[in-house]
Amino acid sequence: MTLPHPIQFVETDLEALASYTGRIALLVPDQATSARGQGARRLNRLTKGAVNRFLGSDAFAALKTGDAAEIGWPTGLEAEAIQVIKTSTRKDVGLARKAGAAIGAKAGKSGVLVVAGTAPLAAEISFGLALRAYAFEARKSRKADPVGKISMMLDNPTEAAAQAAPLAALAEGVFFTRDLVNEPANILTTTEFANRLAAMRDIGLEVEVLEEDKLAELGMGALLGVGMGSETPSKVVVMQWKGGTEGEAPFALVGKGVVFDTGGISIKPAGGMEEMTMDMGGAGVVSGVMRTLALRKAKANVVGLVGLVENMPDGKAQRPGDVVTSMKGDTIEVINTDAEGRLVLADVLWYAQERFKPTGMINLATLTGAIIVALGHENTGVFSNDDALCNAFLKAAAAEGEGAWRMPMGDAYDAKLKSRIADMMNVGGRDGGAITAAQFLKRFVKPETPWCHLDIAGTALVKAPTTLAPKGATGWGVMALDRLIRDKFEV
Ligand SMILES: [Zn+2]
Repeated sequence: MTLPHPIQFVETDLEALASYTGRIALLVPDQATSARGQGARRLNRLTKGAVNRFLGSDAFAALKTGDAAEIGWPTGLEAEAIQVIKTSTRKDVGLARKAGAAIGAKAGKSGVLVVAGTAPLAAEISFGLALRAYAFEARKSRKADPVGKISMMLDNPTEAAAQAAPLAALAEGVFFTRDLVNEPANILTTTEFANRLAAMRDIGLEVEVLEEDKLAELGMGALLGVGMGSETPSKVVVMQWKGGTEGEAPFALVGKGVVFDTGGISIKPAGGMEEMTMDMGGAGVVSGVMRTLALRKAKANVVGLVGLVENMPDGKAQRPGDVVTSMKGDTIEVINTDAEGRLVLADVLWYAQERFKPTGMINLATLTGAIIVALGHENTGVFSNDDALCNAFLKAAAAEGEGAWRMPMGDAYDAKLKSRIADMMNVGGRDGGAITAAQFLKRFVKPETPWCHLDIAGTALVKAPTTLAPKGATGWGVMALDRLIRDKFEV
């Protein structure tokens, strides 16, 4: 898997600046018009005033906080460039990560020396740097040169290093999710996915892989129907992290893991179908959160459950019009085989509640195109039956800078799911498609279970770089859910 680049925290050493041969990243407070701090002043002297000329220029004044500009091949230094990053003097986590990301986006094989001095939130800067330096290279025969050594020079490196440790666990969780989402479906089959999760036993998670015979015994007819046309077997993986009080009911995270979605017999158009490798995004996020919790030894009981299936058209595939029976016992008329994610989740949600009686439950799924029409790629759609849990999640997402927007639910939408021959249909038409999908899921949530459904169809994978990620898989949600667990159970 792709691991975050290690970042060393070292004491400010002015004598090392002149002869450093990689890239120098200089953090400058947004109000500054000339070099402040020992490191900046030394760089200014070595470059015969070039740093101060830049800091006094219109170009620097025009930079937004968190953005950067370059002084290339600077006279008086051996360095390739001085990257000047405008940083906030306020303790703003988002701006600190953005500043770090500006460094991470440009990091290359020659390495980076970050001249940070007394910059606030140095650990958050290093976190942003690590997240943005991610690159998915696993499927390239010719790999890019690995990023060189990255060091941050600080007046108090010990404090920053201590604060950076839990963030390194979080970065590794985000990278785990991104790798899973970026992997093609011929590599990341349901079996390979389950194997990667089983390997997390090594970091202290209890992992069970439920195979098709067991799922049939449990009565998961809705989930099993989806995978009938595929050669790769359907599975449910249960990951338990028991860092909280022994015997206390866990919080549950549930993910849709459709490793490839052709649409099934209701097959999708060819254009863009290759992106459906990301239809396991919800399961990817759940897996990344569980990895983070284990790595940082979270003091909470959390169970992660993922339904892993592949939706293919085949002689054995489920047909439009088929009626399946869910584990709950409700029957579902499958009008459109491309609305398969909710069939998978229906059974895993029910199983999670029957077995674990969780204190709350959040599911994630790349569920509907309709949520992209509504919210674009900036926000995940949040649906909930519980204001307290929903607000706690929205607060955690806002604190982590992950866009999330609450969408309405309501009984009136249920009329669209009425079936002539079964208890319900699996689709409710185009209008309000993300909401009727949420209404469908709600039927498999017990009224006493506080629950949120996160529709991440627009946010799991993006076509342009975001602040903290290159284009491709974002890992959206790992940070917000990790924080929710921390805020809810660990304070
Ligand atoms: Zn689908």
